[in-house]
Amino acid sequence: MTDDSWLEVSSGSPFPVENLPYGVFSPPGRAVPRVGAAAGAPVLDLGGLLDNPVFARPSLNAFMARGREFWRATRGRLLDLLTGPAHRDRVTRHLVPLTDVTLSLPIEVADYVDFYSSLHHAENLGRMFRPGAEPLTPNWRHLPLAYHGRAGTVVVSGTPVVRPCGQRKDPDVPTPLFGPSTRLDFEAEVGFVVGVGSTLGRRVGAAEFGDHVFGVVLVNDWSARDIQSWEYVPLGPFLGKSFATSVSPWVVPMEALDGARVPAPEQSPAALPYLRNGEDWGLDLRLEVVLNGEVVSRPRFADMYWTPAQQLAHMTVNGAALRTGDLFASGTVSGPTSDQYGSLIELSDNGTEPLHLADGSARSFLQDGDTVAITATAPGLGGRPIGLGQVVGAIRPAAVNASR
Ligand code: CA
Repeated sequence: MTDDSWLEVSSGSPFPVENLPYGVFSPPGRAVPRVGAAAGAPVLDLGGLLDNPVFARPSLNAFMARGREFWRATRGRLLDLLTGPAHRDRVTRHLVPLTDVTLSLPIEVADYVDFYSSLHHAENLGRMFRPGAEPLTPNWRHLPLAYHGRAGTVVVSGTPVVRPCGQRKDPDVPTPLFGPSTRLDFEAEVGFVVGVGSTLGRRVGAAEFGDHVFGVVLVNDWSARDIQSWEYVPLGPFLGKSFATSVSPWVVPMEALDGARVPAPEQSPAALPYLRNGEDWGLDLRLEVVLNGEVVSRPRFADMYWTPAQQLAHMTVNGAALRTGDLFASGTVSGPTSDQYGSLIELSDNGTEPLHLADGSARSFLQDGDTVAITATAPGLGGRPIGLGQVVGAIRPAAVNASR
């Protein structure tokens, strides 16, 4: 179907017509952001093209809240407009070059939850944070572990990340110190965006995933390992994570990823029945982590132990309600080998084996001025790969007077 599009998209573009991710952009000279779709290199201005006020808003939330049938109808309408030659002139008037626009945070984030669903990442971190103990906690294989993050500090790709200050406790010093983090890290993750909320008290089963989850973004869960390791017992991550979480500007709709579904890895022991509702698929998303222009890791999302549908079922099994704009991230995507680790703490073996970069420098953790970009591709429905775009962030020095 989409081979017939009149829109010329260069080969290798992450956004062929069968992708059509949604975002929020400001056209040149227009201060109020509005909804668009990435179609090749240009942005398709949906606020101008489609006669519906949900697309004239500065976030995707009103659009997402309309539900699955509306998402399907909108996507179908756009594909129709981009393939029918008769529509060409009308649609072309609403194409804006991507280089001319400013992209905003695509969703108004309601609640933010971060899971911990890679077996390899959990084992690696367990060995580092609890040396000598079993790397996996006794609950890990029975439920998708998670913590609630800070929705208000989720930022769009390109937002600078200021090195956070906080408490750390070095093992050979009796009392904690205060100052800029010395162990700043990235975490390459995949995030799922909730479009349709749920009623308080009602479980959302794994089989209802498609009715609630709108799409996918890339996430960098910036992490200050020194702050995290001192504060996380017994209540989990707090200030070591909440200073910034970056997301990609384009939300890839779940429908565009139908061709990327793969069987999830086998789980042992079998999960409880509420986590086994037939939605046992993963996604063949191939991530790349680029540090200062150099690829340092290629994690594969298909390796994740807990699936997005299981995460959704678990998140609501106690009756907690979903809201439009909820973001739940997968946890760091790490594979079994060191070229697939999704964080620097793993790539540098807890800082003991610095990562050597092509420019001759070495990294145990991130330095001021470093730039981290995470990208991903997936098999598309048209036979061409599709992309999730990228999430980028550069590290800025800690604020002045950071040591007190
Ligand atoms: Ca994380």
